[in-house]
Amino acid sequence: MSGSPRSEQFDDIYFAVEDGLEETKHVFLAGNGLPGRWEGRDDFTIAETGFGTGLNFLSVWECFERTAAPHQKLNFISFEKYPLSAAQIAEYLGHWNPQIGKYLARLVEVYPPRVTGWHKIRVTERVTLLLIFDEVNRAFPELDHPVDAWFLDGHAPAKNPDMWSDLVFASMKRLSAPDATIATFTAAGIVKRGLASAGFKVTKCRGFGRKRDMLTGVQMEGMAQREKPALKSVAVIGGGLAGTSAAYALKQAGLEVTIFEAVRIAEGASGNPVGLFNPRFSAKRSVDSDLYGSAYALAVRTFKTLEDIDYTRSGSVHLVTDEDKRAKFSALLENWGWHPDHLVHLDQAQASEVAGVSVPCDALYLPDAGSVSPQKLCAAYAKDIPVRIEEVRMLSYAGTQWDVNGNLFDAVVIANGAECLKFAQTRDLPVSTVRGQISYAPATPVTEKLKTNLCYGGYCSPALGGVHVIGSTFQPWLTETSLREEDHERIVSGFEAAVPALAGEMRVEGGRAALRVASKDRSSIGGRVGAEFPHLYISTAHGSHGLLTSLVIAEQIASEITGLPQALPGAVLKHLSPARFRK
Ligand code: SAM
Repeated sequence: MSGSPRSEQFDDIYFAVEDGLEETKHVFLAGNGLPGRWEGRDDFTIAETGFGTGLNFLSVWECFERTAAPHQKLNFISFEKYPLSAAQIAEYLGHWNPQIGKYLARLVEVYPPRVTGWHKIRVTERVTLLLIFDEVNRAFPELDHPVDAWFLDGHAPAKNPDMWSDLVFASMKRLSAPDATIATFTAAGIVKRGLASAGFKVTKCRGFGRKRDMLTGVQMEGMAQREKPALKSVAVIGGGLAGTSAAYALKQAGLEVTIFEAVRIAEGASGNPVGLFNPRFSAKRSVDSDLYGSAYALAVRTFKTLEDIDYTRSGSVHLVTDEDKRAKFSALLENWGWHPDHLVHLDQAQASEVAGVSVPCDALYLPDAGSVSPQKLCAAYAKDIPVRIEEVRMLSYAGTQWDVNGNLFDAVVIANGAECLKFAQTRDLPVSTVRGQISYAPATPVTEKLKTNLCYGGYCSPALGGVHVIGSTFQPWLTETSLREEDHERIVSGFEAAVPALAGEMRVEGGRAALRVASKDRSSIGGRVGAEFPHLYISTAHGSHGLLTSLVIAEQIASEITGLPQALPGAVLKHLSPARFRK
């Protein structure tokens, strides 16, 4: 007997105390006719309410590896409002190491930080897990992917009615592929009725262990079906963060990618030697905070897997410099729902302790934040991808493919910053440049005690290779990229005002100025260029958050081109779409 952990929120167990793994196989796999139902299918999608320990996922993945042909693909989508930690999962499921240990180890390795958001995880080349850390009723309407089999595994309806709401059943109806099936451990009347309302023909069958009954069902009115795009070759125009991250995500998704870059990889703002990454803060949950939750978690997950990018997980201390910030940060802590392992308030003494230097106020702390070299990151993303140093002046659609400088591609990603304005297809987009200057200051015996990024409107990195990077200016009205002495002075005086204990320590020796690209509404632009242009995508206007937004948009574009589940909620995709400027 293995026992089961208990949920604190629902005073209920995660799986049967008799044997969770056998219960999973009986209720969810056999209940959905698996593995038989994925036979002969190129890909198969399962969606689950309640990821919990991930036992259902691991069990189905193990079965898939044993039974599916090498070309077949599995997508597993799961909602979870109260994620366990990777360490808890490893502990709770360790009992089944002989059966699923290999899969458990991989799940623990790729498991996202407990940050509210959509976490699309490439578990293997053919298994994709979309883990949605959010309230199911909030997230379900944002999902748009046909589902072949449903695992309903919320806690018992009497203890947790939210997981069995009308909206859940209506969403199942909307997303069920023809002949979709469902299985669940409960036979409660509310579930039977909900499933019938969602178009399922429901059967009561023998439950597992002490449970007398459970339900299975077959969809009679399923609609959601999508033609899978059969695209192979993609041209990416631009070799900065937007372009190289797109190329990276597309290559990982199995496509043949070519980068076209006019000058060299990591020109422009992507060429900075050090870049700090943080989500953009907002008091309320919004499309913007949802974008940054997913993007931040993806960056944290990805950077640790890439070599030679100067990744430093120093953490970020965000000083509460005024009352507006205090109100914003305390609302954000309340509204964002991130686990305190990843976002926490520190009083002044704690903030000073964590930062390693005396700071004058309390702060918000993100331990997973840090810095990378954007320049090296671009090179790491573009590793083993052909790069053609050629300017692309126009894009034309030649029947079924795009012509890029005389070469034909199935799809194109425009990722050349403000230069997108020279293409007929994207010339109308409201993008422009914003100058940003950063300053370098050699560490002193006092400043080298700084351990984290300090953010206060401006920002300062800990000494990296003996040098602090302090930033930055935001000058939409300037287009020059030579360094300006008055900007260095402003950057240093901003730092000294925020951290008086380090006044007089920062002596600037050089810096870098570059032009970032921003849109009229200051949000990135990503997605399909327009319905009239088949397989033409864009990723631009990443402003000062390109390290985060470029990668998640790259993942989304790769999903759209290959037919994988979304990397972001539907409302965020709308918010990023170029269509928002064309009303
Ligand atoms: N399938 C899981 C496994 O293999 O371990 C067990 C799932 S457990 C019975 C139910 C899960 O639903 C819990 O992890 C719980 O946190 C989650 N949950 C409960 N209410 C939720 C809601 N409203 N939205 C999203 N997740 C919820």
